[in-house]
Amino acid sequence: MQPPAPTRPIFLGDARTGIIQIGGGLPLDHPLSKGLSTASTPAPVTVQTMTAGYTHDIDKCVAEIHKLTAAGADIVRVAVPEKKDTDALKEILNQTTVPIVADVHFHFKRALESIDAGVHKIRLNPGNITDRTQVEEVIDACKSANGGKGIPIRIGVNEGSIIERKDKQARAKELGAVFSDNKHGYMIAIMIAKLEEYLDIFYERDFYDITISAKSMDAQLVIDAYTEISKRFPHPLHLGVTHAGPKETGTIRSVVALGTLLANGIGDTIRLSYANDPIYEVEDGLELLYTLGKRERIGAELIACPTCGRIQVDLFNLVQQVNDKLQEDIIVPMKVAVMGCVVNGPGEAEGADIAVFAGDRKGIIYVQGQKIATVPESEILDRLLKECKDFQAKVQAGTAKLGEKKVNIVPPDPEGELGSGWEKMAAQRTAHTPLTIKKS
Ligand code: SF4
Repeated sequence: MQPPAPTRPIFLGDARTGIIQIGGGLPLDHPLSKGLSTASTPAPVTVQTMTAGYTHDIDKCVAEIHKLTAAGADIVRVAVPEKKDTDALKEILNQTTVPIVADVHFHFKRALESIDAGVHKIRLNPGNITDRTQVEEVIDACKSANGGKGIPIRIGVNEGSIIERKDKQARAKELGAVFSDNKHGYMIAIMIAKLEEYLDIFYERDFYDITISAKSMDAQLVIDAYTEISKRFPHPLHLGVTHAGPKETGTIRSVVALGTLLANGIGDTIRLSYANDPIYEVEDGLELLYTLGKRERIGAELIACPTCGRIQVDLFNLVQQVNDKLQEDIIVPMKVAVMGCVVNGPGEAEGADIAVFAGDRKGIIYVQGQKIATVPESEILDRLLKECKDFQAKVQAGTAKLGEKKVNIVPPDPEGELGSGWEKMAAQRTAHTPLTIKKS
């Protein structure tokens, strides 16, 4: 795991939302630290998402933002394609408590109206605003917004929005040779050339509070493009695989690309994008960051076995119920293990604060390595939850410590009473017709 690449930090938010830092760590004597008076360290990586409904439908938009905030979104973006959308922003900002980003395409006036309404950041693809003076007008408005403190801008050079530039052939020739051994070299060259061009406009106007995105639906291009951009531009990077598809495949594409980059210290804020409810983008984004150790976990971490021929309870159902209940009731980052049998369960649950192993339609429950109860299958969920809540109360009161084992887990004898369930279950199984595979 590489440390985060240093970048010029940006700040967004206000007294109502709290201030969120993205990036950081660029030395104060770096030319791009101009105007900063305090040294920074890299902020934890943030999770963003975007509302799926219409922004002008104020009540629904506010409700969606609340739902995404409750799920853990640090920043929420809203689309403002029409004047009626920017007209709604003031009221939306009044009713929400998370920094809001206005997503602008094509119409620079929507950017100006959003800034007037008080949004905390603008997302702009200079590639689809053809007139340079319009881009300059937006930059100047962001610079003087927020009582003169300014608001940041995300510059997008996403694959879809730069591909039609008329000078692409010339720039590709110029830069293409640099990436000639990369199958996406042409596109990386265009992205970098465009970024240089856009950043010049921003720097000329003395504007540096910038994040950069270079998204594509191709995970490999995303990895290569952000890696090259990170070497050249010390601005925080907004990572994403765009149009990643339905959640099932989108998760894999996003986790491969973003996980690789983050492990290499590249990326300061992330957005997963699925053709699904954006709440999944938030949940999966957070889980990715927790898994990589880029964020401190809030809530329980559930460990569960995949099951096998030794399974002794309806484990899939139990795991789903435990997962839902833990999300509702537990905020302390305890590890909870749910294991299907007593053979490998103890080994797999090593390191868990609370564990249950199934045996002969029963659950044997352990707290900090100590066996505390054996309950019938129907009572496992309630008892496990009770133990989790009691343990949480003790951690919060300072009388128990996460990750501390009082004793090492002593596994029950698989040949003993709890293991005997295999024979019973095997007998039950013979009553069923075995699965046969039809041969054509
Ligand atoms: S814990 Fe038991 S049931 Fe679960 S995968 Fe391991 S051996 Fe199989």
